[in-house]
Amino acid sequence: MFWLILFVLGLAIGSFLNVVALRYDGGETAPLFSPRAIGGRSHCPHCGRTLRWFELVPLASWILQGGRCRSCGAGISIRYPLAELISGLVFVFVPWRIMTMTGISPFGSPLLIGLAAFWIVAFEALFLMSLVDIRLGIIPDGLNLFLFVLAVFSAIFLGGMLGPANHSLFGAYSGIFGLQGNLWLNRLVGALFGGAFFGFLIAVTRGKGMGLGDLKLAVPLGLLLGWPDILFAIGAAFVIGAAVGLAAIASGRRTMKGSLPFGPFFAAGVAAVFFFGYQVLQWYLRI
Ligand SMILES: [Zn+2]
Repeated sequence: MFWLILFVLGLAIGSFLNVVALRYDGGETAPLFSPRAIGGRSHCPHCGRTLRWFELVPLASWILQGGRCRSCGAGISIRYPLAELISGLVFVFVPWRIMTMTGISPFGSPLLIGLAAFWIVAFEALFLMSLVDIRLGIIPDGLNLFLFVLAVFSAIFLGGMLGPANHSLFGAYSGIFGLQGNLWLNRLVGALFGGAFFGFLIAVTRGKGMGLGDLKLAVPLGLLLGWPDILFAIGAAFVIGAAVGLAAIASGRRTMKGSLPFGPFFAAGVAAVFFFGYQVLQWYLRI
């Protein structure tokens, strides 16, 4: 029952964030969360009719209506239920992962509730960032600033919670990569590495490979993840990006000259480290 409530809450938040991302115009008329940008009832983009409450139920409405508008029959993009589903899964699997990582139910300890809530907020922010980057090809500064504040907050209140000496999602293995003694130094190195890595990429590709938005995202994410987690998140982001890019070229949907926004891959890289990083590194070191 508890996990179901979490899932439904995640669906609702996902539905809201999807609307925020769709109505955002890059900050020209209003910032991301302003009532002016997100106010007003939802309507069908095809026939313009205002949607009733039962047409706005996350996931269920889309499935029950067969992905079509009830009035005009126009197809409703799969992006709506997909965005809601991803957010719902974040709400379920983030606390579940914290539970498997620590061996303690996050609901048994106030500190672990804090840790689960922190990661849910971080992933929902990355999710919103991805939706905006896919649609507009930009990463709002406000979201980078939010992630930065979140990272400082986590360092102050939640640092070292995944183990007394290690601040890393890689647990004891993080010792191999050094810099585990001091939390703030560790996080600072993570931020510097993220910034320097993307600064270097932007310099050598003369801004064609990566945008300044990616650099501005890498710094707070480095601060949030610390060392060596940021290194693995960036590595995973490039592997996932290359795989998706090659698949898009192979299916004829993109050309070699086409570009993809990097933000969603960065978010996927962070998720890969969070959910699978420890096991993958453990498997690699064993072989
Ligand atoms: Zn319609």
